[in-house]
Amino acid sequence: MNCPYCGKEMTPGEILGDARSSVRFQPEGVKYTFGDTLCGIGKLTALRTKCVTFHLPANFCSHCRKLIIDTEVAR
Ligand SMILES: [Zn+2]
Repeated sequence: MNCPYCGKEMTPGEILGDARSSVRFQPEGVKYTFGDTLCGIGKLTALRTKCVTFHLPANFCSHCRKLIIDTEVAR
């Protein structure tokens, strides 16, 4: 995948972490409630969990320092 900002080749990879906290997107100016969190609102659908870890496929441009993730945000 080429970077949409500079056009250079991006490095494919993934974001890693543990399953104690999911990766969510929260729009600026919006504060999700604890109930929203329990319902999975804002959760990235590209997130793949395995036992106690997660991985999220992504592409990184080291020139622009941009990370691009193909996903939907749960509503
Ligand atoms: Zn770039």
